Amino acid sequence: MSRALAEEILARIREHGPLPVSEYMRLALFHPEHGYYRTHAAIGARGDFITAPEISQMFGELIGLWAAELWAALGRPPTLHLVELGPGRGTLMADALRAAAKASPDFRAAIDLHLVEINPELRRRQGEALAAARPHWHDDLGTVPTRPAIVIANEFFDALPVDQVVRTEAGWRQRVVEHADGRLVFGHGDPVAKPAEAPVGSVFELSPEREMIAARLFERIASQRGAALIIDYGSMSALGDSLQAVRAHQKVEPLAEPGDADLTAHVDFSRLTALAGAAGAVAHGPVPQGAFLRRLGIAARAATLLRAATPAQKRDIEQAMRRLIEPDEMGTLFQALAVTAPGLPIPPGFDV
Ligand code: SAH
Repeated sequence: MSRALAEEILARIREHGPLPVSEYMRLALFHPEHGYYRTHAAIGARGDFITAPEISQMFGELIGLWAAELWAALGRPPTLHLVELGPGRGTLMADALRAAAKASPDFRAAIDLHLVEINPELRRRQGEALAAARPHWHDDLGTVPTRPAIVIANEFFDALPVDQVVRTEAGWRQRVVEHADGRLVFGHGDPVAKPAEAPVGSVFELSPEREMIAARLFERIASQRGAALIIDYGSMSALGDSLQAVRAHQKVEPLAEPGDADLTAHVDFSRLTALAGAAGAVAHGPVPQGAFLRRLGIAARAATLLRAATPAQKRDIEQAMRRLIEPDEMGTLFQALAVTAPGLPIPPGFDV
């Protein structure tokens, strides 16, 4: 599979010249026939990478309770769009709906579920995990009908293509993918305007595609009321080469296996925060995932689960909690950002 895509990319480069990094990423992830997100059901212990909701049910449950509080803050509307961007195997949402139904049956009854997903195999899995909630699927946010919405996005933005620019001795250049000896290699393209003060060798990342999706999302939140919760790899900076490929839980060369490895890049939360403000919405955070989950009560939830657990389950629960919150695991590498319509209170987990 990947060979076919690598050959196609090489042929394109020979014919039309080097590709910007974003174009390479777009082909590797979204090529209609061979793209990674078209062909691989990537997530889980037997897939290529594992995500927070796949580590523990507590993650989705706490997000379900978070959404219930937001629904109350919105004035308990009788119908609310609960939207997830890139729901993976549907695990987060299944856990969230179960917790919501228990804590707030009125909220659960108000939910009209909308899933934005392009991968047919993952859509099928989501359909199995969430059949009882009768979800509606969309290729992008544009077709989700207007109405107050709570939008969840876990590890969604990091999958959208980024461009990179590099500081060389001769100034800033676009980073491109070209070919050498029949292989894909990185090179330097056209000069670009200086994006930041940084020493020679520095890489700066930017993503028009993420910004477009984020801007549309935040405009919707501001004008139709609602809130978004975005959790992802990232920081408040765009400096640094964060492009990373993972296959079967191992890091691989980003150019080695297009279409067969997951490709991600860190999210620049400072851009998302600025875009929220520009759209007339309010950004809260980002806060590190560990702090966010602690404030939502992960320790109390774990204690409840531990009471009914076998010794083996106890070890799993404790290990899962550590993976989600400890600084040397996902606790600080991942950040949570909430974006709300003006006039809403500070959402749970974001008050300091
Ligand atoms: N949120 C899930 C999955 C994260 S992986 C979890 O935490 O486990 C990224 C998800 O986004 C996958 O479901 C992938 O198929 C989907 N996806 C990636 N790019 C997309 C796009 N442009 N539009 C819609 N879905 C996309």
